[in-house]
Amino acid sequence: MDRSSRPCLLRASFCALALGLVLLGGCTGSGTDDTPSPSEQTTASSEPTTPDPPPEVDTERVLADIGHLAETIGPRHGTSEAYAEAAAWVEGRLTGLGYEVTRQQVDAPAGITWGVDVPAGDSPNVIATRPGAPATDPHVVVGAHLDTIPVAPGAEDNASGVAVMLELARIVAESEVPVRFVAFGAEEPRGPGDSLHHFGSQQYVAALADDERTAITAMVALDRVGVPGPEVPICSGDSPNGTTAVRDQLATIATAGGVPHTVCGGNTTSDHWSFDKAGIPAARLGSIPYAGYHSPQDTVGVVDPAQTGRVATIARGWLLENSASP
Ligand SMILES: [Zn+2]
Repeated sequence: MDRSSRPCLLRASFCALALGLVLLGGCTGSGTDDTPSPSEQTTASSEPTTPDPPPEVDTERVLADIGHLAETIGPRHGTSEAYAEAAAWVEGRLTGLGYEVTRQQVDAPAGITWGVDVPAGDSPNVIATRPGAPATDPHVVVGAHLDTIPVAPGAEDNASGVAVMLELARIVAESEVPVRFVAFGAEEPRGPGDSLHHFGSQQYVAALADDERTAITAMVALDRVGVPGPEVPICSGDSPNGTTAVRDQLATIATAGGVPHTVCGGNTTSDHWSFDKAGIPAARLGSIPYAGYHSPQDTVGVVDPAQTGRVATIARGWLLENSASP
């Protein structure tokens, strides 16, 4: 985006967010005093008002959602009953926010996940869209895998990503940001090699028609976004078809917001990789190493709410900027 045009576009987006209309003519008044003057009060029905900004990130809500997935539901490998319970919960949350929610069947084969046999079955993607928004309209995808390995409650991997995704869905629920949120099934590996993991995102991408694939302007995967760390990792996949554009956009937003971050490349271990391989611009937020990784110790205590807040702040800024892009 032309940087010089960004502030104007952002103001336009805030107007659109609050009013449901692109009232460009009403974007000039951004004073700090929201109290209408007497003359404004008498003409309130015909004059655009200063819109409320989009909601800020609520890390207490994020932490509560991590607790629900990791403690109330617990370990949830992709073809388990607990996974089905988690999918139903996510579906209910997104439906409650006003999204149109569908499920996509994801065929996950029998295999071995981190040393444990797992059965074949459906590990559905849960997909939230704006009601009536065609899949061929330009949009971004924000995704987080909902499954865990069999023994892990998965507070960090990846209740943290799902909880931040739900918070973003809340923040932009009343806006016109063109976005789809996807809780991906069966991300964890069921064997060696590139084809035996990321089943939900691989099958999401494979099912896209050409005009649906080109409609996805960017994808961001939220995966392991809550353990404490000095910086937020922002990573690209760097497949032969890939681009660092989304990573660089996120880093620009982080810099502008004063959020400490580090940029990395060659990350192939989350759902952004499925999009990157298909030539869809994609990046990943998260991936700080931690002691409880893929173990029963991946419990709520490993998560730092402030770190989820940093990640959510970057993603929030990026989503709102995308709402202003042509
Ligand atoms: Zn993960």
